[in-house]
Amino acid sequence: MISSTRRRVIVAAPGEVDVVTEPVPELQPDEALVSLLVAGVCGSDIHGMHGTHPTMKPPYYPGHEVVGVVEALGAETSGLVVGQMVTPEPTLPCGRCKMCTTGRSNICENLEFFGCGFREGGMADLFTVRASRLHIIPEGFDLRMAALIEPFSTPLHAVRLAGDIRGRTVAILGCGTIGLLMLAAARAKGARRIVMTDVLESKRDGALQLGADAVVDSAASDVAERVRGELGESADVVFDCVSIQPTITSAIDMVQRGGVVVIVGVPSRPVEVPVFILQDRQIRLQGSATYVSEDYADAIAIIAAGGVDARHMITSTYPLEQTATAFAAAAAGDQIKVLLTGDGIELD
Ligand SMILES: [Zn+2]
Ligand SMILES: [Zn+2]
Repeated sequence: MISSTRRRVIVAAPGEVDVVTEPVPELQPDEALVSLLVAGVCGSDIHGMHGTHPTMKPPYYPGHEVVGVVEALGAETSGLVVGQMVTPEPTLPCGRCKMCTTGRSNICENLEFFGCGFREGGMADLFTVRASRLHIIPEGFDLRMAALIEPFSTPLHAVRLAGDIRGRTVAILGCGTIGLLMLAAARAKGARRIVMTDVLESKRDGALQLGADAVVDSAASDVAERVRGELGESADVVFDCVSIQPTITSAIDMVQRGGVVVIVGVPSRPVEVPVFILQDRQIRLQGSATYVSEDYADAIAIIAAGGVDARHMITSTYPLEQTATAFAAAAAGDQIKVLLTGDGIELD
């Protein structure tokens, strides 16, 4: 018997995270009703809560890094059965525009985003979602591994856009959650040497523990020179997971002539870019926005093969009722990934 009410998280106003009880919405013919197992708190949720995210403004219903169980299926769905463990690919593309019909549904001209301003998000006991966006979680995945499929797909897309990085030198700016997953992605895709930067020593230590070849203090005035020293050359590819003025300036400074700087982090304000250097050194400045289904498939395969240390990445869990505390913990900056758990769910 499926409950007719649910608890659901709402970011009601900047800094105000509430859990409200309300009726479960009616299931549309193309939707699945999913019960929550775990939901990750994302950096963008924290930006959104503070009112500093470029597109996610309160009030909104968060939760786009979600794992759950199919409880019911609309009449027009196919390929799923009740009881399956699933994770939504939260982008909701229109399927008709030029981007959708050329394999770039992540930059759909009419994109809606589950958990990011859409009427539904995954931080709820039960939620509805377009069934065709659900990926089935394979046997052998525990909840931690499953919770990383969505966040790991973002750096995998960034690598896809950078091109073939096998044997290349890579710099990753930022040792936060996305930076560390970027490290796993670059490693899995065959980067030869990976140097990472951060302002915090504790974060740099974390990156070394997870397999960075070297780390550099990004507060150093000669950060680009130091990265070059650790790589033994200028970086073939730089992944900027911070996207603020100092990191973008140093990224363009440390990248090889003809190289690529990929903007992975969500910038919260405009930055200045020395376009003369881009032109003169033929540097490609590449934006990267979320992922496509192939990145999800890639994420699932690499996580299944042990390419991501899920136990190390998930640093705390809170029951859904304590979402405000979980957001505060994630905002404090010393966590890698904070998870919320659904009703009665405990991680071993
Ligand atoms: Zn996210
Ligand atoms: Zn579209």
